[in-house]
Amino acid sequence: MDELARAVEDPLAVDAARAVIERAREEIRLGREPGDLAARMRKEIGSLRTARLRRTLNATGVLVHTNLGRAPLPEAALERVSEVGRGYSNLEYDLAGGRRGSRQEHVTGILRRLTGAEAALVVNNNAAAVMLALAALAEGREVLVSRGELIEIGDGFRIPDVLARSGARLVEVGTTNRTRASDYERAIGSETGAILRVHQSNFRVLGFTERPELRRLAEIARRTGLPLVDDLGSGALVDLHDEPQARDSVAAGADLVCFSGDKLLGGPQAGIVVGRAELVERLRRHPLQRALRADKLTLAALEGTLQLYLDPERARREVPVLRMLEEPLESVRGRAERLSAAVGRAVEETVARVGGGALPLMELASFACAVEEELAEPLRLGEPPVVGVVRDGRLLLDCRTLTDAEADEVAAAVASARG
Ligand SMILES: *Cc1c(COP(=O)(O)O)cnc(C)c1O
Repeated sequence: MDELARAVEDPLAVDAARAVIERAREEIRLGREPGDLAARMRKEIGSLRTARLRRTLNATGVLVHTNLGRAPLPEAALERVSEVGRGYSNLEYDLAGGRRGSRQEHVTGILRRLTGAEAALVVNNNAAAVMLALAALAEGREVLVSRGELIEIGDGFRIPDVLARSGARLVEVGTTNRTRASDYERAIGSETGAILRVHQSNFRVLGFTERPELRRLAEIARRTGLPLVDDLGSGALVDLHDEPQARDSVAAGADLVCFSGDKLLGGPQAGIVVGRAELVERLRRHPLQRALRADKLTLAALEGTLQLYLDPERARREVPVLRMLEEPLESVRGRAERLSAAVGRAVEETVARVGGGALPLMELASFACAVEEELAEPLRLGEPPVVGVVRDGRLLLDCRTLTDAEADEVAAAVASARG
């Protein structure tokens, strides 16, 4: 009773007691024994205090898993977040001039260096970046998009809807599989405000296909005085198979290039726009920019991540997404063997994926530890939660998306789930 008295002092006691009594009543109605109410009350209070957003072990083999928080942050980025978040910062303060500054300044220089663009702007995510670009450049006017690029990215996020929200009008050009430069040229009229190119992030059209090179579209845009916006989706800052690089889009003549911070770039959720200074300035001055801007923790994490890219080899070593993408198969196999030995199960060859709408056809050879399917739920509900993939009556725990230390935690979680 002592403990119950202490629990009653808790500010959450009333809510917890209500929930516990409600459940006990229900059980009595069903003719069941409601059990130890004090213990239940303690448990209820404990659960009300447990954080809902939790560190989760990703044993799915999907590197950029949108449901699992996309990119794990590099150590260097986390250090920047902790340093900048702990106290005050010069977020919008110009230390040299002793006056108000711009939050955008902190990452502009490094983004220019990494992409070769004149100017840069960071907002909350890439969907916001595309919407802001279209709103600032083509509100009330027409935007040309190839029919092959009117994509849905995931969770109902569709390019035509974003375009409509920006206040621009969609004009479809070409066909699903073939769009030519002349299709764009024919569609340009007095109402045209911009040309939008969208990277086919999460699918590929194979066979009888055609689409103009970005360079060719840039020529048309320049000749007709229209801005060309290139939505790269993931985008990359180093050479990663056939994922387009922001630097190449800028060099090919795109006026604005938009990409995500937390896909293959491997940083925090953010939308990055780079391109011509005069256009970026129009985005910066647009009222939506204020609503879509990134916060200081995002900017700190992004700067910390981008700094790693100043040395591309360092980025490949220290950005977790890149490290997982490039980890030699033998090293993944070693981890899977250790995990399998620890839980007394077999190693299985499997295929990991990039995810996040990047490199959709790429199959990354990988190794998993295959355990009993029945463990899927207890592992998800454990601490830390572990998410794997159920296939052919077994639960596969893919070791490409786990670190060595995490694989040890998975082994312990399996032991405790078997209880
Ligand atoms: C992922 C993606 C987006 C949206 O980016 P978020 O950072 O998730 O907002 C937009 N366009 C393309 C082509 C994408 O792949």
